Amino acid sequence: MLPYSLTKFIELFAKIPGIGPRQAHRIAFWFLRHDKNFIYTYGFTLKDLADKIHVCPQCFFVFEQTNAGAETLCTICRNPSRDNTRIAIVEKETDLISIEKTKKYNGLYHVLGGLFSPIEGNNHELKLPELVQRLRINPQTQEVILALSHTAEGDLTSMELEKVLKNFPIAITRLGLGLPRGADVEFADEDTLANAILSRR
Ligand SMILES: [Zn+2]
Repeated sequence: MLPYSLTKFIELFAKIPGIGPRQAHRIAFWFLRHDKNFIYTYGFTLKDLADKIHVCPQCFFVFEQTNAGAETLCTICRNPSRDNTRIAIVEKETDLISIEKTKKYNGLYHVLGGLFSPIEGNNHELKLPELVQRLRINPQTQEVILALSHTAEGDLTSMELEKVLKNFPIAITRLGLGLPRGADVEFADEDTLANAILSRR
């Protein structure tokens, strides 16, 4: 019933988290009510996302190469005023952004890329081997902060990480006061998250 290009668009957009087929239909028709240049802007922005955004090989956050591709690390990892004796482990990029917004943490990060699942075999994509390797080649690390959500999977992940990290001569801390049970780091309000970082133990 719908033209092929429109069907294709809806098919692709319906796969985006939080957007189902119904929303994808609405978005398609919303685009079609605008002129070509408006739609092209979205197209080019997506292309830039694919072409220009790189993943930091040290912390797995993202960065954009500017000086003719001279940068190999993200802006946080290559910032000499950050405290490189601390690494906060977060589940995902948006958690890192929430912690940065509090301005109460000046260390480095490690984006794990997910949480441990109780189902065996589901954990192979987590950047845990990379964390271990990072700690081996960066002996200046003194503290690893497990900045994970207060959920069952977050707790399981913290326990698994503690098992691995106890082999290193570093302090392991967790987010402290304020973050309620079931709370996601990403959605915690700024003051609560700031308190949780400052009261880590
Ligand atoms: Zn980095």
